[in-house]
Amino acid sequence: MSMREGTCSSCGATEVYYALDGLKPGRGVFGGVSLRGTVMNTPTDVYICVACGYIAQYVQRGDSSLKTVAKKWRRVSGPKDGA
Ligand SMILES: [Zn+2]
Repeated sequence: MSMREGTCSSCGATEVYYALDGLKPGRGVFGGVSLRGTVMNTPTDVYICVACGYIAQYVQRGDSSLKTVAKKWRRVSGPKDGA
């Protein structure tokens, strides 16, 4: 299931709506989310399932900030990590 393909990855409904460049980090409902400044000024594509309220937010593919994140952030290695 993929929000980008119109299926909610939380509840499986197909009531998914999107806005490209919909929300800028630091404003609106995502106010205060700075992501340590890495993607502060990066426009994001936002997908919302109106059936359950699940929100998915994507930095646009190919954006240079993704490389910065890959280099500086910790990678999630799996459910066993830290458990
Ligand atoms: Zn949903």
